[in-house]
Amino acid sequence: MLNLKKSIARKGIVGLDIGSSAVKAVELEGRAGQASLAGLGYEQLPPDTVVDGQIMELNAVSQAVAEVFNANQINATRVAASVSGSAVIVKNIVVPKMSEEELDESIDWHAEEHIPFDINDVCLDYQVVGAGADSLFVLMAACKRDYVTNRRQAIQLAGKEPVIIDVDAFALQNCYEYNYLPGPEQTVALLNIGAANMTIQIVSGTRSMFTRDASVGGNQYTAMLQRDLGLTYEQAEAVKRGGPAPDGVDEKQIEAIFAHVTDMLALEVQKTFDFYRATTDESERAVEKVLLAGGGSKLRGLAESLSERLRVPVEPLDPFRRIRVDARRFDPDYMREFFPEMVVAVGLALRGVEG
Ligand code: ATP
Ligand code: MG
Repeated sequence: MLNLKKSIARKGIVGLDIGSSAVKAVELEGRAGQASLAGLGYEQLPPDTVVDGQIMELNAVSQAVAEVFNANQINATRVAASVSGSAVIVKNIVVPKMSEEELDESIDWHAEEHIPFDINDVCLDYQVVGAGADSLFVLMAACKRDYVTNRRQAIQLAGKEPVIIDVDAFALQNCYEYNYLPGPEQTVALLNIGAANMTIQIVSGTRSMFTRDASVGGNQYTAMLQRDLGLTYEQAEAVKRGGPAPDGVDEKQIEAIFAHVTDMLALEVQKTFDFYRATTDESERAVEKVLLAGGGSKLRGLAESLSERLRVPVEPLDPFRRIRVDARRFDPDYMREFFPEMVVAVGLALRGVEG
């Protein structure tokens, strides 16, 4: 089951982001508007344990989940997790005006034409987000069922209880809304650049306008450095993270590879903006700004390069902008370093903060 409805906010929930490169956990305490950080953890995953959002190595993932709780003294066991990647579909659909019960009974049928998978093989959830004279606007999310089941299993194997399975894009949006309190007309694109996946979430005020996951991310830089410069994975990762160029490699070659991959990423974002513009009739809701999240967004100069290519301001999303962080418990330098990776986990943890 996917659980999108914010009404099921529950106390004492840990936000758990199982990415393809690492598992991140965030625990918050306090009430809405006054939340503070209670626990935070990051645990690297071995390569190929999660591929395109699907868990391939259940044991490796559940070990990392258990470790991220243990190593950081996170004691709550109820978890909000999320799914992302090509198995996830998020769409705004329009259906004829009907009662809640009627919609509940017919949603599968309405959703079917928007989902490229067999409707019997997906978990589906939806929210009515508006109404016209004789229609309802429905935000719907679907994910292949085995992806959801698999994630729940990994969490349960670690001795935790998955109480909410959300979608990365909505967690991203949650984190943004809580921290930035956007005005009703403010349209931004949230970009979560992970290792293998990039989530593009266009939000107007607090409305989810358009969502897309593209199979690109930080891995592409590493792979291209390996391929074109003959580097090992470790060497390429080090270069990507700002390390010195290995012997025989010119800085210029590295910059050219960065630029090439960044072009690819920017193209995916541009395509999404173009499609969004073509399919929304509210022309005033053009994207004004891009907020960046995800470890992949830490590539040096990426915000500037994206801003040049997309011609909008691009800046990092601060997941703790309105969340109190005690500097005696959480090292400020470590925190700043891991801000981008924590955005989805914070958004998930916010599901447990009472509004
Ligand atoms: P996904 O969301 O794609 O499943 P994930 O959630 O595990 O993956 P993140 O943890 O957000 O991904 O980011 C991991 C990526 O960030 C990796 O590609 C990693 O190489 C990259 N990365 C981490 N630190 C840096 C850095 N300082 N500079 C450039 N890239 C970095
Ligand atoms: Mg991720």
